Amino acid sequence: MGGLALVTGGTSGIGYSCALQLQNAGFDVVVTGRDESKLDRAIASEPGLTGYVNDVRDRAAVHDLVTTIVTDHGPIEVLVNNAGRGGGGPITTITDELWLDVINTDLSSVFWVTRSVLAQSPSIQSTTGRIINIASTGGKQGVPFGTPYSAAKAGVIGFTKALAKELAPSGVTVNAVCPGYVETPMAVSIRESYAEMQGVPEHQVLKEFESKIPLGRYSTPDEVAAMVTYLAGPSAASITAQAINVCGGLGIY
Ligand code: NAD
Repeated sequence: MGGLALVTGGTSGIGYSCALQLQNAGFDVVVTGRDESKLDRAIASEPGLTGYVNDVRDRAAVHDLVTTIVTDHGPIEVLVNNAGRGGGGPITTITDELWLDVINTDLSSVFWVTRSVLAQSPSIQSTTGRIINIASTGGKQGVPFGTPYSAAKAGVIGFTKALAKELAPSGVTVNAVCPGYVETPMAVSIRESYAEMQGVPEHQVLKEFESKIPLGRYSTPDEVAAMVTYLAGPSAASITAQAINVCGGLGIY
C-alpha cells in the first residue's frame, strides 16, 4: 500500500488510530484537527505524521486546506472523513444552533471535504482510490435523545451509497464504517451528558450502555481503524457502497 491518506479529525480517538494504522500500512498520512495544541501533540508523538489546523464546518477553509495538501504533498489517494461530534437531548430542548452545528460537523462537512478532494485531486478516482466515511450504528438504528446525530449519520450513509454508485465506473470505492460504542474522549462526553439528563452517575450509564452490546464491551479505536485500513487496501477493491458495523454486535444490519 502507498500514496497519501487524509484523515479529518485525526488528532484523537478513532481518527488518530486510523492515522497510525494507515501509516504502518505504508501510506503517507496527513491529519487535521481544530485545536492547534492537540494537533501539535498528535504530530509530535508520531514521526512522519503531518497535519493542519482546520475546521470542517468552514467550507472556504476546507477548500484552501485541500489546495495546500495537494500542493505540499501531491494527490490524495485515501480520504477518511472522520471528524465529528455528538449532540442531542430531548427534542423540544434542541436549539437551531445545536441542530445545525451537528448537521454541519457530521454531515455537511463530509460533502464539503469530499467535493474539494474530488475536484482538486481527481486522480483519487482510480482502482486504488478510497473514500471512507465514519458514520455510526446510530445512523441506522436511531439513538434516543440523539436526533441530530442520528439524522446526520443516516445522511452520511445515504451520501456514501449514492456517491459510491456515481463514481463506481472509475474504480474508486466509497464506504461507510459504522462504529457502535467506542471508548474515546467523545464517548466520555456522551456518557456525561446522559448521566446529567438521567440524574445518575456516569458509571451507571456505562453499565447500561455495555448491557446493550452483545459482546458486553465498548469497541476500541484500533478495532475501528483496522476496518478502515482494510478498506483502504488492495484486498478491499470490490467492496463499495457498504456501511460496515464495528460494534460488538450492537447493530445487526
Ligand atoms: P473524538 O472526540 O476522540 O475525536 C473527534 C475528532 O474530530 C477530534 O480530532 C476533533 O478535533 C475532530 N473534530 C470535531 N469537530 C471538528 C471540526 N468542526 N473540524 C475539524 N475537526 C473536528 O471522537 P471519536 O469518538 O474518535 O469520533 C470520531 C468519529 O467516530 C466521529 O465522526 C464520531 O461521530 C464517530 N463515532 C464515534 C463513536 C464512539 O462511540 N466514540 C461511535 C460511532 C461513531
